[in-house]
Amino acid sequence: MNSPNTKTGDAGFILLSSEELLNWSRESSLWPLSFGLACCAIEMMQTFASNYDLERFGIFPRPSPRQSDIMIVSGTVTYKMADRIRRLYEQMPEPRYVISMGSCANCGGPYWQHGYHVVKGVDKIIPVDVYVPGCPPRPEALIDGVIKLQEKIRKEKPLTGTTPLEAQKDSDNVSKEIPVPTNAISGNTTTHQ
Ligand code: SF4
Repeated sequence: MNSPNTKTGDAGFILLSSEELLNWSRESSLWPLSFGLACCAIEMMQTFASNYDLERFGIFPRPSPRQSDIMIVSGTVTYKMADRIRRLYEQMPEPRYVISMGSCANCGGPYWQHGYHVVKGVDKIIPVDVYVPGCPPRPEALIDGVIKLQEKIRKEKPLTGTTPLEAQKDSDNVSKEIPVPTNAISGNTTTHQ
């Protein structure tokens, strides 16, 4: 039996479709936009650091939306930030993906009832592909969200039809306008008990 280092001269080859090749390259080089919003961002930074090392998945943050294909919304989405977040998302080239990290980004979190200044879910302003629960989610949970996104990308059909992700995004109830509550406009900050 040949040792693993023996060169036999046999030509190795891989057989796969163009779509599988595209999906493999996309899922293996997800470049997130480098930004964070609140305490969940600390956990996200920890996930990038040496202990959890997201780079082993081919994931490392980029400083510009034009170089990024994934947005990790890590933290509280205030109405003040909402149009900035949507603008950054629109500056990312397609295909682009969004992970909503933590309860605040998912649904408003601890501010869901009395937080007049908080958007009750980032999916009100941009389409979301994967939701990671927790307050805050641990790095393991964010990594699980990344793996879920990779599984979805693997099922896409970029050359031959509508992808499952696009179909899902079409059905998302994303507002054309940034929703602003009336008490936020009037500056009334004292009505909630
Ligand atoms: S979900 Fe919890 S940890 Fe994350 S930003 Fe909101 S309050 Fe902070």
